[in-house]
Amino acid sequence: MLMKATARGPEVKTGGITLHNLQKRYGSAVAVDEVSLSVSPGEFVSLLGPSGSGKTTTLMMIAGFEMPDSGKVLLDDLDITRLPPHRRELGVIFQNYALFPHMTVAENVAYPLQMRRVAKAEVEARVSRALDQVDLGTLASRRPHQMSGGQQQRVAIARALVFDPPVLLLDEPLGALDKKLREHLRNEIKTLRKTVGKTMIYVTHDQDEALAMSDRVAVMHQGRIRQVSAPRDLYRRPADLFVAGFVGEVNLIPVKLKSGIAYGPAGERLAAGPWTEADTDATLCVRPEHLHLDRGAAGSSAGLQGRITGMTFVGDATIFEFRSESGLQLTSKVLNVSGQAMPDVGDLCAGSWGANDATILAK
Ligand code: ADP
Ligand code: MG
Repeated sequence: MLMKATARGPEVKTGGITLHNLQKRYGSAVAVDEVSLSVSPGEFVSLLGPSGSGKTTTLMMIAGFEMPDSGKVLLDDLDITRLPPHRRELGVIFQNYALFPHMTVAENVAYPLQMRRVAKAEVEARVSRALDQVDLGTLASRRPHQMSGGQQQRVAIARALVFDPPVLLLDEPLGALDKKLREHLRNEIKTLRKTVGKTMIYVTHDQDEALAMSDRVAVMHQGRIRQVSAPRDLYRRPADLFVAGFVGEVNLIPVKLKSGIAYGPAGERLAAGPWTEADTDATLCVRPEHLHLDRGAAGSSAGLQGRITGMTFVGDATIFEFRSESGLQLTSKVLNVSGQAMPDVGDLCAGSWGANDATILAK
């Protein structure tokens, strides 16, 4: 793998993207609503959200293919909000590779350089380097229809890398591929990101992908950013019920907060992390892997009392369905470790969790 000597100098990193209150309407519908976000040079940030949440529209406003109604896009200190796409020098990778079918791989990758009137010898050197970066050096004379989906997507990545933009914008680049290939290319993009050191803004609706690849994840819903956090914090400390439910599996337990104590539906005291809300009704969130079902504590005053109503073996883990006496239906996930005694369907148990593993959210 070639290491790049940057013309911008070793110290001054460029490629920071700042979004300031971006707003975009289509007719009366708000597609992107007051979106603000700061991405540092070299950072990998995902825009994660369900279909229709405004991810693509946000990315297209950064790329220049859509104009915001209001707000600003900055590349480092430069206001690029109104610049046409080809003057922004941002690499864009779309979901459907968008290769030219009649051109070879090398010609496809050379295209952005020819548009920029780069000299022929320089074009050849850069194309060959870009193809090496995505491990396609040997397929330069193929045409798109002679390649797999994953290979075509790597051509699209090479074409975006070839003019050495400081920022790559990727819109669900793995969306059309099957699961195995997605995971493989996911790792390749991660590796590439380390070797070329570019800022990457990555759109996906796939939470696993976002958690696995990103330095930070911005969760979008109905045109707004709901939370921007490192993957670990996003999972452990979701900011609201939407994020808690969208990122990973979660048990939601209605609680009453009173004088610093969380009470469950049957008035039981429940462990919970610190919270700032006043005394009120709230929701306690516990991940399935943090819900422990203990037969020994059945009938005691600990945690939520209830019964196991279902059990599913999923290979690495067993998923238990647990119904509390107060009528909550919860899920517990236990890794299958050999020699471990497991409860069974019908068993009475107490369900509990560590205070640090429970987040209190406003209703
Ligand atoms: P995502 O990429 O998260 O799936 P989009 O940014 O594509 O979401 O779309 C956000 C919202 O804007 C959706 O409700 C979508 O229907 C609407 N939208 C996107 N592009 C257009 C368009 N060109 N004309 C009208 N509505 C659009
Ligand atoms: Mg989209």
